[in-house]
Amino acid sequence: MAFDSLTEKLQNVFKNLRSKGRLTEEDVKLALREVKMALLEADVNFKVVKGFVKDVQERAVGQDVMNGLNPGQMVIKIVNEELIRLMGSETTEIQLQPGQATTVIMMAGLQGAGKTTTTAKIAGKLKLKGKKPLLVACDVYRPAAIKQLQVNGEKQGVEVFSMGENHKPVNIAKAAMEHAAKNGNNVVILDTAGRLHIDEEMMEELQEIKEHVEVHQTILVVDAMTGQDAVNVANDFNQKIGIDGVIVTKLDGDTRGGAALSIRAVTGKPILYVGMGEKLSDLEQFYPDRMASRILG
Ligand code: GDP
Repeated sequence: MAFDSLTEKLQNVFKNLRSKGRLTEEDVKLALREVKMALLEADVNFKVVKGFVKDVQERAVGQDVMNGLNPGQMVIKIVNEELIRLMGSETTEIQLQPGQATTVIMMAGLQGAGKTTTTAKIAGKLKLKGKKPLLVACDVYRPAAIKQLQVNGEKQGVEVFSMGENHKPVNIAKAAMEHAAKNGNNVVILDTAGRLHIDEEMMEELQEIKEHVEVHQTILVVDAMTGQDAVNVANDFNQKIGIDGVIVTKLDGDTRGGAALSIRAVTGKPILYVGMGEKLSDLEQFYPDRMASRILG
């Protein structure tokens, strides 16, 4: 699981803090220096770490904390609260249109991030909520993406709309909207094409879809294993096409996890879900408080 090493390091810092009866300002500063190192080693964005440590320090060296009954415990509590704040505090849901109105969700992301898998995972969640999703194969770029969506859609018991590889994604999306209207699908999820790197053609493809189809939610899928690249990718997508939320995949893997801690602060956009495995059930709602508890161990 991600964060194992971060958790171990933070626990060492905290053990030290707890063992002291009183804390001097110097004790707190020293501890926070170690917290800073641990976060940087976990691949959290440098600016984010700086801001985080500054915020904790401002709250922790105040007289109330230093003269309190249990100053070590107080500092740990502040770290916990600031971690939660860093990740956005509240759990954010995918915003569905009210009533029976159709919600269009556009999934975006680089190739290999886990977009097609995550698209099917989300369809399963929405089906459990009583929705009737339609998955749309707009990834005409990656070989086998269409087949993969069909296989996963079938596993989830969700219909997949495809027109093969020889149509423009925007035209597939438009045709899918007509299909959804006829078939009573109240959520349409567009699985768009990624590329290996950020590329103009990909952004234009996404923009074109947005110009011709009313997209209600644009969700970006990023791979936690790519560390700070995932954060830069999120920033780029947000600036170029505008995103509503992010899904961070592969947090089950041996990743340092820093992306999950940086994305909200860098992009201002919430993490909606995290991918915790290859199975279609391995998608977890993102709870900042639970993630903070997990990190602190
Ligand atoms: P796409 O190119 O973005 O559509 O990526 P895919 O959906 O094909 O996923 C790429 C690979 O990542 C596949 O082997 C998936 O099984 C795997 N994958 C996706 N999400 C997760 C996850 O949360 N954890 C793990 N361990 N693997 C994942």
